[in-house]
Amino acid sequence: MAPALAPHSAQVGDFALTLVRDSVYWWDGGALFGVVPKTLWSRHTPADELNRVPLAFNCYLIQTGNHTILIETGGGDKMDPRARERAKLPPVADSLPEVIARHGIDPESIDIVINSHLHWDHCSGNTVLTANGAAPAFPHAQYFASRGEWEHAHQRHVRDSVAYIDANYDPLVASGRMTLVEDGHQVIPGVTMHRAPGHNRDMMVITAESRGQTFCFLSDLVPTAAHLQPTWVAGFDLYPLESIDTRTHWLTKAVNENWLCGFGHDPGIAFTGIAYHAKTIFAVNQTAR
Ligand SMILES: [Zn+2]
Repeated sequence: MAPALAPHSAQVGDFALTLVRDSVYWWDGGALFGVVPKTLWSRHTPADELNRVPLAFNCYLIQTGNHTILIETGGGDKMDPRARERAKLPPVADSLPEVIARHGIDPESIDIVINSHLHWDHCSGNTVLTANGAAPAFPHAQYFASRGEWEHAHQRHVRDSVAYIDANYDPLVASGRMTLVEDGHQVIPGVTMHRAPGHNRDMMVITAESRGQTFCFLSDLVPTAAHLQPTWVAGFDLYPLESIDTRTHWLTKAVNENWLCGFGHDPGIAFTGIAYHAKTIFAVNQTAR
């Protein structure tokens, strides 16, 4: 029998997976659930007195034997104190390398960092601000992100420009430390970035496949388990109809191929299988593995 794993750990083939939660934070429930009535979503996730619901900055580590890969770097330390207070974050951010070290993994061993997209809540731990500008938080890593997403970040559209902080990626691109990739880019054998439009145009989901088993990081395509219902689309998704179609595509694969999945912001679930469900179309399947 396989050794018992802590709930924040899992194994797919030769890959050891670890969930690292950068922080738990609180965000407006209406923004998270869009046109879904509060009477429905609040049954899943009760809101506080300011209509906020708890979320997490979920980052995943993949240890392959040859590489240590970090997917996402969380909310970082670039928010101003008022923004931190609004999200019920502690005044001073935990350092992500320190949080990773607490899981028994040497942050210096991370040689690859992948960002599913470049919104601040997914890549603010890429860099740390120093007197000489932004420096890589993972000095031995090559970083990977979508080229289309990077180009969109620089278009500064009024709808979503607030989501982008150039210090999280531009210094890395300028120094050659960040590689900008296209749909289907294989980072190492088995680990692939796939464009999954909906939340925005070029967000990517990341699959890690070893010995016929697959882990899929769904990022903001499915930010929490409540969003497994395809029509429960967040208010901040730029292309809601595409969110529904893209979700249905990836979740159907996840069910049929018995994948293990991770969500971008679920504060309670580290790893889960996905099952078909008569009412909500898809649902968590914690007994899948
Ligand atoms: Zn997000």
